[in-house]
Amino acid sequence: MRIGQGYDVHKIDKDRELILGGVKIESDFGLSGHSDADVLVHAIIDSLLGAAALGDIGQLFPDNDMTYKGISSIYLLKKVCEKIYDSGYKILNIDSTLIMQKPKISGYTLEMRQNIAEACNISVDNVSVKATTEEKLGFTGRSEGASAQAVCLIE
Ligand code: ZN
Repeated sequence: MRIGQGYDVHKIDKDRELILGGVKIESDFGLSGHSDADVLVHAIIDSLLGAAALGDIGQLFPDNDMTYKGISSIYLLKKVCEKIYDSGYKILNIDSTLIMQKPKISGYTLEMRQNIAEACNISVDNVSVKATTEEKLGFTGRSEGASAQAVCLIE
């Protein structure tokens, strides 16, 4: 078995939609980025690539490549999982934490888990999405940005 870890940060962008775990979240701001800026899925992608020692999201999908402008991160996750499977690995489970002051995302986590599980072709029971705030401290607490962390096990 191999473990992987991923971490990502995106800045708040008041003019964009907020997409997390492939779900459009009701919010008065979104996140800036080349793709759909799905910080949660980006952390998960990096954890999977890390577990298989296959590089990182920036190497696979460069942000100066117009192919990936505004692209769905769930689609990128699907591509990464295909790469993991092609390398002979099986994905056992994924655990992730989204760190943002607002909005509340508890009502969306099941749908996020379903999107991630579907992209990875694993059971939703093997995908966890948690959310926390940093008690109004730091850049997430001041709503200047959002971060996410993820770990996974592959075999
Ligand atoms: Zn990112």
